[in-house]
Amino acid sequence: MTEFYADVVPGISHKELDKTFQYKVPDSLVSSAVPGAFVKVPFGRGNKEITGFIIELSETPKIDPEKIKEIKEILSDSELPESRMIDLAHWMKEEYDTTLIKALKTVFPVQETVREVKSRTKPVDYAKDSEAGITLNDEQKNFCDDVKTDFDNGIRDTYLLHGVTGSGKTLCYMEVIEHIISRRCRAIMLIPEISLTWQTVGRFKSRFGDRVSIVNSRMSKGEKYREFVRCSRGEVDVVIGPRSALFAPLKNIGVIVIDEEHEDSYKSENAPGYHAREVADYIAKKEGASLVLGSATPSVKTYYRAKKGDIRLYRLTERASDSPLPKVFVEDMREELKSGNRQMFSRRLIESLRIRLEKKEQAMLFLNKRGYAGFVSCRSCGHVMKCKNCDISMTYHRVGRLMCHYCGYTVPMVSKCPECGSPHIAGFKAGTQQVEESIKKLFPQARVLRMDKDTTSTKDAHARILSEFSKGNADILVGTQMIVKGHDFENVTLCCALAADMSLFAGDYRASERTFDLLTQAAGRAGRADRAGEMIIQTYDPDNYCIVHSAAHDYEGFYNDEMEFRRLLLYPPVWNMMTTGIISSDEEALINVCESISQSEYINDLKKNPKDITIIGPSKESIYRVDNEYRMVMYIKSKEAYILKEIRKEIYKYCTDKVFLQFDTDRTDI
Ligand code: ADP
Ligand code: ZN
Ligand code: ZN
Repeated sequence: MTEFYADVVPGISHKELDKTFQYKVPDSLVSSAVPGAFVKVPFGRGNKEITGFIIELSETPKIDPEKIKEIKEILSDSELPESRMIDLAHWMKEEYDTTLIKALKTVFPVQETVREVKSRTKPVDYAKDSEAGITLNDEQKNFCDDVKTDFDNGIRDTYLLHGVTGSGKTLCYMEVIEHIISRRCRAIMLIPEISLTWQTVGRFKSRFGDRVSIVNSRMSKGEKYREFVRCSRGEVDVVIGPRSALFAPLKNIGVIVIDEEHEDSYKSENAPGYHAREVADYIAKKEGASLVLGSATPSVKTYYRAKKGDIRLYRLTERASDSPLPKVFVEDMREELKSGNRQMFSRRLIESLRIRLEKKEQAMLFLNKRGYAGFVSCRSCGHVMKCKNCDISMTYHRVGRLMCHYCGYTVPMVSKCPECGSPHIAGFKAGTQQVEESIKKLFPQARVLRMDKDTTSTKDAHARILSEFSKGNADILVGTQMIVKGHDFENVTLCCALAADMSLFAGDYRASERTFDLLTQAAGRAGRADRAGEMIIQTYDPDNYCIVHSAAHDYEGFYNDEMEFRRLLLYPPVWNMMTTGIISSDEEALINVCESISQSEYINDLKKNPKDITIIGPSKESIYRVDNEYRMVMYIKSKEAYILKEIRKEIYKYCTDKVFLQFDTDRTDI
């Protein structure tokens, strides 16, 4: 007869998770002894009775079975937050292909010997509720009423609130949360870290008082832990924070809100590489909670699901305040070159800057370098060298070749533009430092601040630069895209994307989506108060649909064109896609593994079925060697998501102790 053994942790904290104790599951308890169960067990020499949680079950004893003690009693079924977290960890282990211990460490906070922890965040005066007297407009009311009524009728759904910046999305979230709290449930509100400003916090505090808990990554472990203790004691109704707020040990979660749901920061970069949207979806279904996603520029995937009817779509089409959307100018840099202007600033930008300096208004200039991998383009006609298989821009490699990092296709670097014959074809170069220097030459009197990786390496440098700029101690802020998101400066009336093409041709299939979002956000930064704002987009490809639609503030138009591209090449959300990183510090071992994968019968059988699956690679990553590790990558696209899991298991078999694998699955269903 099979014996079952349970790994039990006596307490739950990071420190204790590594130390589990195995117990025998008596026959009478086999059906209720599940991971997450709260149990009473004999412990230590004196067999003192203590409580603990089962985190895993197995059929293999770790020591002599005779010496393994038995579980005494199962204390409850899974109503405790801890049980819920253990269940969540098991799901994450499967879903993100990680170890149970890593997953457990993700969902459980670090417990510190709690000395009295001093709060590092300054107290803010939350006294006045700005918003007490506001009546919702029709669109806002329609959304809030539906979510509330559904909730009261026991209907749990996923809702997308698509509303331009300033249309009152946050107001709607608070309205819905308040209602759900009045039904004795609790709420989790996710905000990207950068938008977690004291204004937002203040609005929630003034509405929900002390029953709000705020977590952010700047808090010490002790501070975070203290907030989580408050949650498990039932002292909190709303937790606000970045993606880790999902792991707040709340009971009775009634609603999870994800603001700016398209933000990349919702995806964890470390293993397990979970996406907050997917985890929230799991928690909501498990707990019976509503899920609200909000954004001015929803991710293509979420919008696709909304259009398909998997998510309920609501729109807020008007800004609540009267401030108009800024006027957007698209500057064709090919024309600048033709007219003899070889600078990185268009004539319109120079003139607009001059006016700003004269009127003592501020300007922001940014380079959208995110994901920038060194594409090659023609300065005369704007032609970009793209892969013939993947329609993705190719990357310049030092050996004098251009390469597609999706499929590995390469061609020699060209000396003339294949489109117009111009010799002005080269890698696209521009740096923030160079921008700063050129600005200083053009306008020696201007006070310029620069914000990029180099100037923000020290702690608090970020906040210091932004605060200097907001105090008016500089006229122009130059930086990477980090200056654009989540900040509001009253006196900024001009915002310029100096080289929109940098992120547009970033060499991955989501490049246009990210660029559209960034340009829309940037436009939202200019002229938010009573002054009209201006946005300038400099590009060599002014007819690109991404540029055209962002200039027109037209999300729908962008989405339709983008979906055409995704359909044509079967990129998500049309098909599912799994990115497999194959990594080793031993290049030879890596090449051997890649060869055995691509020559395996299994992979070749799959390739015979291109109607359901396509396999690209393995080929070298755009940056092949990082930290002395060599990296290859393989892209597998499939119509059905479940097949990817099978393929993952199969590829795992080729893994050796020298070569490790990293999976990232972009599923279309959550
Ligand atoms: P979003 O989250 O979409 O950017 P907010 O909820 O922050 O929008 O709303 C922007 C501003 O408009 C806030 O100051 C808010 O108080 C105000 N506001 C929102 N809805 C209304 C309304 N119906 N009537 C008056 N003011 C409103
Ligand atoms: Zn050309
Ligand atoms: Zn390719």
